[in-house]
Amino acid sequence: MRIALIAHDKKKNQMIDFAVKYKDVLAKHDLYATGTTGTLIMGETGLNITRMKSGPLGGDQQIGSMIADGKIDLVIFLRDPLTAQPHEPDISALLRLCDVFSIPLATNAATASIIMNALRNGDIEG
Ligand code: PGA
Repeated sequence: MRIALIAHDKKKNQMIDFAVKYKDVLAKHDLYATGTTGTLIMGETGLNITRMKSGPLGGDQQIGSMIADGKIDLVIFLRDPLTAQPHEPDISALLRLCDVFSIPLATNAATASIIMNALRNGDIEG
């Protein structure tokens, strides 16, 4: 499964905790991330991640383009719902493309954990 990982700045610690907790699951998949998120996860876990540009510099659009091309199967996007983002249009476009192409999308850690546990248990195809 090709998994995209994205976290807004105030959610980056939560993303690192998530990646550490589910490292065994994530390690079995092809991982992609926006620039800063990917760098942090790689540094903390040693997971191999293909990094796009930083989100505000086009990384969300790059992930969106991959979704449109059928190259992403799951998106974990830990969004910060309490802080205005300069690249809000890019974020909206990415979320929209997930719905256009029916790509599973977790926008908070609780949903992301459910998906990881399902992958770990073999309840959904990996
Ligand atoms: P970042 O981008 O991982 O480069 O910080 C995430 C975002 O803000 O969309």
